[in-house]
This record gives sequence, C-alpha cells and structure tokens, in this order.
Amino acid sequence: MGTTLLPGGAGKYVLGIDPACPRCQESLTAPHMLLHCPNHKAQRNHLKAALHSHGLVLSFSNVLDPKGAARGPVYSALAKYLLDCQITDKI
Ligand SMILES: [Zn+2]
Repeated sequence: MGTTLLPGGAGKYVLGIDPACPRCQESLTAPHMLLHCPNHKAQRNHLKAALHSHGLVLSFSNVLDPKGAARGPVYSALAKYLLDCQITDKI
C-alpha cells in the first residue's frame, strides 16, 4: 500500500509529526491501526464479526477490498470501527 497521511506515513517526511502510535509506540500505519493496535481491540470485534459472517478473516485486503456480498457489510463495519476509535481526523 502507498503512503498515507497517518503519522506512520507522513511522519517519515514531515517534521513535527511523530510516526509512532501514541499508545503503543509501533509505527502508526494503516495496518497497525486497522489490524494490530491493541488499543482498538474491543472496537475491532465488530469488524471481525462482519468479516467472519462472510467467511473472511481479518486482513488488510479483506478490510479494504472485500469481495461480493461482503462489501457492504464490511464497509459499514469499517466505518463504525473508524468512528468508534475516534480516528476519523487522522485519515
Ligand atoms: Zn497502537
């Protein structure tokens, strides 16, 4: 995936942006935020459930490009996840 405006991407190029996740000090990239950050584990359960109900596992490609009938429900769950995590100002 390409560079994003998340701190893990932009922070490599823009002085004053800390590229690390403020909570766990991992590089704050889209995969970290969507899949791995332990800080958002509770909110991620809804997203996982939406994927699992369509036979999909939690992965970067399944979250961002779900196929067929999974697309609508997974995107709805992704929107809820981003809102629940209160990170819509960072994407
Ligand atoms: Zn984190």
